[in-house]
Amino acid sequence: MIATKSMPKQSMYDTVIKQFNKTAEIIDLNPNIKKILEITNNEIVVHFPVKMDNGKVEIFTGYRVQHNNALGPYKGGLRYHPTVDVDAAKALAMWMTWKTSLAGLPYGGAKGGIQIDPRNYSDAELERITRRFTYALGENIGPEHDIPAPDVNTNAQTMAWIADTYMSTISTSERSQNQHVVTGKPVGSGGLEGRDRATGFGVYLTTKELVKSRGESLKDKTFIVQGFGNVGYWASKFLIEDGAKMIAVQDAHATLFNEEGISVEKLFEHSSPRKGSIQGFTEANEMDPAEFFGLECDILIPAALGNQITGDNAYTIKATIVAEGANGPTNEEGEAILLEKGITVIPDILCNSGGVIGSYFEWLQNRNGELWELDEVMQKLEKKLLQVFKKVEKEVEERNTDWRTAAYILAISRIETAYNQRGIFP
Ligand code: GLU
Repeated sequence: MIATKSMPKQSMYDTVIKQFNKTAEIIDLNPNIKKILEITNNEIVVHFPVKMDNGKVEIFTGYRVQHNNALGPYKGGLRYHPTVDVDAAKALAMWMTWKTSLAGLPYGGAKGGIQIDPRNYSDAELERITRRFTYALGENIGPEHDIPAPDVNTNAQTMAWIADTYMSTISTSERSQNQHVVTGKPVGSGGLEGRDRATGFGVYLTTKELVKSRGESLKDKTFIVQGFGNVGYWASKFLIEDGAKMIAVQDAHATLFNEEGISVEKLFEHSSPRKGSIQGFTEANEMDPAEFFGLECDILIPAALGNQITGDNAYTIKATIVAEGANGPTNEEGEAILLEKGITVIPDILCNSGGVIGSYFEWLQNRNGELWELDEVMQKLEKKLLQVFKKVEKEVEERNTDWRTAAYILAISRIETAYNQRGIFP
């Protein structure tokens, strides 16, 4: 059924629950395990005061939702965005559980953040907000318990502040050995070479593999990207290096089009000083944002927020591949339309899993006191991503199903096995 404008919008939480229920039915998931997985273990909400540059105190609300830890410590990003709330964090935490399970990592799933638009705050204010949030979370995070990472509008600097605050507030004897409380740190502070590009690399690699499986190559393929943050930038850069052409890009402020191709480096140089906004870039024309998804192209990469491809616009999409750099960009109605049109969706939990795989490498590096080189990291990342891609591809073929369903079957079955082996305490 195609949604009309008058229908209430589906939330990300609705989407993830519907996807989960569909899979539970297909694999005939044990009803007791289904009960456990359809709820989130912990939903932490903290309110904390921070002194602003003008001397006034503002109260902020931060969230951390821990969905499941059957396979290992909770893992997932922290985002700073006005849309962050308990429901959004619940949905995103569930997606993390499926993502880490699918990738075969020893992690569960979590997500959180603060409900702010970081553009409204100075760097000094963001530092104080981040540190006070970390302090408020206290022992709800920890290197063997719950390990945050960057997400929308957070970055290596944010992680460095969290690591420093966490290590400054735990007992003295443990201070120097807990930097793996977060991943995605700056390379100079225990971060992993290549973690910055890991998510975008995975988007590129999974897209390339899918194109290859059709007997084609990326050369001269056209693509459009929604979002020009870390994921959008790196995915575009890798795709262009392999011969593809970026003909349009969209963010919250502008939609740009150039049939001849847009230079990702020039756009990055333009957007960096503007806190990532692409607005005002002169080597492309501004176009109507509502027409973006309907552009003639081969590949569409949503790399911004959730719930973008819906019943309202999916029917306009002309790309033959949708590569989900973002988490939850396609809702159920949107996906049904895409599948009916014969469009292949590389689902978020596979497509953008390079990020958390990179995080796992960083965590191991810290835990073992090692320093890995970029070449080594990229090789390991590629190997792991290809393994996961092939596993999903095989499931798609064997079950004659779509990529999201196949990925969900694998992810949820792995958690079911763990519960079956261990039983339920007490
Ligand atoms: N925020 C990223 C994601 O959604 C990375 C999470 C992590 O590395 O823990 O997958």
